[in-house]
Amino acid sequence: MKPDFTTLAETAVTRCRRLASFSEDTGSTRRTFLSPPMHDVHREITRWLEPLGATVRTDAVGNLRAVYPPSKTPASSLLIGSHLDTVPNAGAYDGILGVVLAVGCLEALQGERLPYAVEVVGFCEEEGVRFGIPFIGSRALVGRVDDDLLNAKDTHGIPLRKAIQDFGLDLREIGRAALRPESCAYLEFHIEQGPVLEKLGRPLAAVEAIAGQSRWELSFLGRSNHAGTTPMDLRLDAVAAAAEWITLVEQLGKTAPGLVATVGSVEVRPGAANVIAAEARVSLDVRHREDALRSRAVENMILHAEDVARHRGLSVRSTQRLNQPAVPMDSLLTCQIEEAIRQTGCPPHRMVSGAGHDAMILAEKVPSAMIFLRTPGGISHDPAESVAVDDVAKAIECGLGLLHQFASAPTFHSRTCRA
Ligand SMILES: [Zn+2]
Repeated sequence: MKPDFTTLAETAVTRCRRLASFSEDTGSTRRTFLSPPMHDVHREITRWLEPLGATVRTDAVGNLRAVYPPSKTPASSLLIGSHLDTVPNAGAYDGILGVVLAVGCLEALQGERLPYAVEVVGFCEEEGVRFGIPFIGSRALVGRVDDDLLNAKDTHGIPLRKAIQDFGLDLREIGRAALRPESCAYLEFHIEQGPVLEKLGRPLAAVEAIAGQSRWELSFLGRSNHAGTTPMDLRLDAVAAAAEWITLVEQLGKTAPGLVATVGSVEVRPGAANVIAAEARVSLDVRHREDALRSRAVENMILHAEDVARHRGLSVRSTQRLNQPAVPMDSLLTCQIEEAIRQTGCPPHRMVSGAGHDAMILAEKVPSAMIFLRTPGGISHDPAESVAVDDVAKAIECGLGLLHQFASAPTFHSRTCRA
């Protein structure tokens, strides 16, 4: 019998809202890495998974790991998951929906076993709120939790290793959190967190790549002076220079499809209404799926900053803060996702993720792919974040289709982890 996707979707939405109630704050959702409410979230998800026959554990960094057994052993293992931590004042769906949908896909199997195991992963840390370091959960799966990371301290001075012990976990077991050789692929459902699918009128998209990211800090250096007594033509105004450059960045950001460029922070010194600014320190964030294009765009923006400064008799200092390459998703899996979307009766769409996700860390070791769900209003990281039940139903139908597509593709489940 065909599963009732709408009922499964309604359950998924109710579950997301229930998990949002497990919070460090009253009246809003904040659930950071290894915080007490994460215990409640694990207990709740375990309650949904165990009746399906899954074996649930928490690994040594705090990821929820549940294995839905295969029809026969030995078998490879498909991972499906997302993250369970949140930003402060969060919505109910970012990350969480991806884990809840993994459970929903297993429920849609109605007891059917597949020729491979399905491992549901609820990552403990993706947002980087507590330690200022993102992706700690997925790093553990690719074997990248080292002493430097374990010694990192949160804002209360608590080292990561102590936070792990305080949560009741055993540091010596961290090696066991890593992917096993039979792990053959990783799949992640996530809300788009942007307006593209809504504008196109499509519920789902296959993610082709996660954009690379450059971050720079620029300081325009002028001379501070009295705002009343210094004539306009005798000023070295750092803020005016920064402003001229910021509008150029906006224009340059529009010169290539898919390119985005943002100046999100401006700090002015001395920062008084009646003083011409001596220094304007600004951030630059540039993203694109092609690293070469992104590098050229950044170079061009820095050259323009130097030009603006020179014309005005100022100087500018620029420092690179981050240069993170783009991560392509597995092309075979992406094609299979497109096919599964098509099978639900929706036209498939391909897009690039401008935000980072656990899938880009997993892609270091296993073929990885993502499915985006339309985000009403493009609103995310806010309590107003939402999803449409119909879209969630399509996502579960697509997920079930994928599980069956993989089951009938022996080449799929004979693939193994590059560990
Ligand atoms: Zn997320």
